Amino acid sequence: MNDKQEFTWDVILDEVKKVYELKSDNALAEKLGKTRSFISAVRVGRKTISIEIAEQLFHLLGMNIDDYVHPLFLPLKNIKYTEQGIELQKIRESLIKRSAGCCELCEDPAPFILSDGSPFLESTFIEQGASNNKYEQCNFAALCPNCHRQLDILNKEEDIKKLLAKIK
Ligand SMILES: [Zn+2]
Repeated sequence: MNDKQEFTWDVILDEVKKVYELKSDNALAEKLGKTRSFISAVRVGRKTISIEIAEQLFHLLGMNIDDYVHPLFLPLKNIKYTEQGIELQKIRESLIKRSAGCCELCEDPAPFILSDGSPFLESTFIEQGASNNKYEQCNFAALCPNCHRQLDILNKEEDIKKLLAKIK
């Protein structure tokens, strides 16, 4: 898939169909453990996709969802907020407050400001975070894109330690 292509769930669903040579939406529904009517409803925008299904779709395509969308900082296109979305929106707001617009690793200000006036920082899920419930702010750090990439690639213990002290 072209990086710059503006994605909709329609595009993503068709891409999964193509990659896995699924002949119909029925076969696609089976692959996702969903019903055919769920797929149809998503295609026409009547149903929302949960973060779990979104992650499943990206995983099936061998793509890391974080490389395309940062659900905490940019609303997923074509997703109307679900209950979980509302939780995510709350986390986003609290991360922006907690980080005061600065990367929680290098402590530099966000590289730019979004059109809504909020700082652009990327959220990253920290596995060792304090809560078993994934969607809580104590499990996420707000990072600049450089630090986010550094953490993904090097996964340094000292970086994790520093973040854990800030996010708890
Ligand atoms: Zn940074």
